[in-house]
Amino acid sequence: MSVTTTTASATASASAPVLAGRRGSYWITTFGCQMNKADSERMAGILESMGYQPGSDEHSADLVLYNTCTIRDNAEQKVYSYLGRQAQRKRTNPHLTLVVAGCVAQQEGESLLRRVPELDLVMGPQHANRLGTLLEQVASGQQVVATGEHHILEDITTARRDSQVCAWVNVIYGCNERCTYCVVPSVRGAEQSRRPEAIRLEMEGLAERGFKEVTLLGQNIDAYGRDLPGITPEGRRQHTLTDLLQHVHDVEGIERIRFATSHPRYFTERLIEACAELPKLCEHFHIPFQSGDDDVLKAMARGYTVERYRRILERIRSRMPDAAISADVIVGFPGETDAQYRRTLALIEEIGFDQVNTAAYSPRPHTPAADWPDQLSEAVKVERLQEINALVERTARLRSERYRGRIEQVLVEGSNPRDPSQFMGRTRTNRLTFFPAKDQASHNGEPQGGAIQPGDLVNVRIDEVRAFSLSGVAVG
Ligand code: SAM
Ligand code: SF4
Repeated sequence: MSVTTTTASATASASAPVLAGRRGSYWITTFGCQMNKADSERMAGILESMGYQPGSDEHSADLVLYNTCTIRDNAEQKVYSYLGRQAQRKRTNPHLTLVVAGCVAQQEGESLLRRVPELDLVMGPQHANRLGTLLEQVASGQQVVATGEHHILEDITTARRDSQVCAWVNVIYGCNERCTYCVVPSVRGAEQSRRPEAIRLEMEGLAERGFKEVTLLGQNIDAYGRDLPGITPEGRRQHTLTDLLQHVHDVEGIERIRFATSHPRYFTERLIEACAELPKLCEHFHIPFQSGDDDVLKAMARGYTVERYRRILERIRSRMPDAAISADVIVGFPGETDAQYRRTLALIEEIGFDQVNTAAYSPRPHTPAADWPDQLSEAVKVERLQEINALVERTARLRSERYRGRIEQVLVEGSNPRDPSQFMGRTRTNRLTFFPAKDQASHNGEPQGGAIQPGDLVNVRIDEVRAFSLSGVAVG
């Protein structure tokens, strides 16, 4: 088999509407962030437009695609163990098509073929929309590596969404920041914002298909628009996240809008005002702080101080007192002293987060911090991670208490996978909420919830609270 390395240029065609017809079954396993999940949905859509059917498991599918994550070493290693099993399968089943997409593919490129020669296609995240074209090259007998810098083309029609109610919509790809621990800029490339008209069009299409909630996605969503041309008469950028939210807010049928991930360096007052004023904007903000110590933040090259972070949250809470705040944090960054780590714990306690994603620092290839001499031992990192996780759970539980006895508007996403007799949905503040499908509390003497469907907005009285979820009954 020959190896083709594609470095597709800005003029390359988007995923081809190739040879629709029955092709066999496919299976996609997705690792990592919402961006990867959104990319997987687009790739699934492309496969189905080619004639592939969803398979029932990865051990019998005719095409297996791993959409990978390299943000931490353990995510990367997991992929290699999955690939080992598929490589074995391929030796006895040469018709199996084996694809590695996403960030490990981008990071490793051709060297992945040396490690797993059974692979047919290695493709970076910028090439997700080109899956059809790349598989055509594979069908002509080539092993293909697609990791070149690529201008992402509009391809908004083919995503196969996992949910029927909530959809992700990418608004900016890539990241121009240089956080010293992070591999994202090197695997996802430079920022590329989509045009506001294309984003609105995609949202209108989603509304027509019955979707009710849209989460706008970007690794650093506050950077939205800075690569698009245009200056307003007042001298500011014409395209910002705030302008985008105003542009898409009135799409009829979409009831709720969220966005993630926010960066404290670029989060503006203007954005906070817009969120407070636009009724569909949900009161939930995901704003990673990464550390509660200014010197660590500086070493991470984050570009803000703890005080600035505090001021953003104060401003949000003064305009939206019930807003939920979630964040990401890293413990065990090179050189992090016990005192610095304790400042992170203190910040979590002070702010009272609704949720914090915690991670032990993991040295990543081609990132500055990976080469610094003052790496902490695994034992220290694990100890800090365990302690911080316990604190996060405690503060989340305290935050959940405010819901007890309240009536919350819940957008129903479907039934609880663990208990089909219950509906599952989310509050505007993004708290997962369960309520029984039958025996709802009566409202004005009438039992409620008889004909509840996914996509309905239901008022739920919260009776039970846990750290990260709530339970109650529908009251109308
Ligand atoms: N763009 C977002 C931001 O500015 O915070 C984060 C995107 S990153 C995909 C998601 C999270 O992974 C980060 O917030 C960080 O907490 C974590 N992360 C990134 N690199 C890491 C590393 N080398 N070790 C541990 N955690 C890491
Ligand atoms: Fe990584 Fe920093 Fe970009 Fe977030 S902002 S994706 S942490 S480089």
